[in-house]
Amino acid sequence: MRIRPHDYFMSQKKVLVTGAGGFIGHHLVTELKKKGYWVRGVDWKYPEFQQSAADEFELLDLRRWDNCLQATRGVDEVYALAADMGGMGFISCHHSEILHNNSLINIHTLEAARIQNVERYFYTSSACIYPEYKQTDTNVTPLKESDAYPAMPQDAYGWEKLIAEHLCTHYREDYGMNTHIVRFHNIFGPNGTWIGGREKAPAALCRKIAVAKLTENPVIDIWGDGEQTRSFCYIDDCVKGIYKLMQSDYYKPLNLGQDRMVSINQLADIIATIADYPIEKKHIAGPEGVRGRNSDNTLLRDILKWEPEISLEDGLARTYSWIEGLVKERLASAPDKKQVIEELKTSKIFSAPCK
Ligand code: NAD
Repeated sequence: MRIRPHDYFMSQKKVLVTGAGGFIGHHLVTELKKKGYWVRGVDWKYPEFQQSAADEFELLDLRRWDNCLQATRGVDEVYALAADMGGMGFISCHHSEILHNNSLINIHTLEAARIQNVERYFYTSSACIYPEYKQTDTNVTPLKESDAYPAMPQDAYGWEKLIAEHLCTHYREDYGMNTHIVRFHNIFGPNGTWIGGREKAPAALCRKIAVAKLTENPVIDIWGDGEQTRSFCYIDDCVKGIYKLMQSDYYKPLNLGQDRMVSINQLADIIATIADYPIEKKHIAGPEGVRGRNSDNTLLRDILKWEPEISLEDGLARTYSWIEGLVKERLASAPDKKQVIEELKTSKIFSAPCK
């Protein structure tokens, strides 16, 4: 087979993906391998649902400086995804743990990358950095990148992400590092956390609706009145966007998400239609996050000449079918069915001191 110069160049590039045992990191490793990169994955756990496609996978605690030096050795590029994170149930509590752990991970990974002469660095920030005062209405104005200031994120998770964004910007200005910063808006899809307390709304609702259907009990719990709004972006689009931004010469923070806003009630209705099972929503007290959030994709379209393409319905159909399979497995192998059904129906709500 003839090797084209482009392929040869790609096969020579070595990249590190941190958080490669997690949802987005795992999908990103698969994509980078398809593109011909040599990939080192690092996490403190292996991917839960599939084997990693990485050439090398190291289990390291990236809060530790020595481990960050080890992780970044001999690579040309770093995709920094490792973070202590989860959905609203998790990040509305655990503030100290999140701020402590993620600060250490990001400060050490970036400095280690600088010392190791890494050419390009990709940092994964979040829509959670946007100020709470811009997200008080369900019919929220979509958030553009410049809306981040004056800063007032709702949770410690968002504050830490803002500081890490600044750190990347300063490393670029002070040391000339090619840093890229993305702000994800609710990424979802198969092989993501779906149970245990760190799952986000799309996975939690798919799980609750699957168990409702399989046990023929249509009642599902929804936190709050369900009128809170968000936009949701499918994982394949997310990975595509990450790669495009890394190849670009754009260094300021950029939104990456869909700009179709739906309420949590509407999200549940779409999933119920996919499952072909009518549900009854029971609204209960729980952490709701901001009242409304949507992505303004004007800059994304302008910079990348692209925007996420996979529809919410398509993405949810793929995710629902994956989660329904997991729910079936759990139910089939459960010695105590009642207890497992309860676990599947409920999303864990943490309250201080969060343990
Ligand atoms: P995830 O939790 O599935 O992946 C994060 C990974 O980081 C996990 O596998 C975890 O084990 C690992 N990690 C945590 N602490 C570590 C440590 N001390 N040492 C080594 N590894 C450690 O989350 P994800 O959804 O894949 O998110 C990836 C990145 O994108 C994160 O930085 C997250 O904050 C950001 N993000 C995600 C979303 C989303 O909707 N999924 C939205 C905004 C931002």
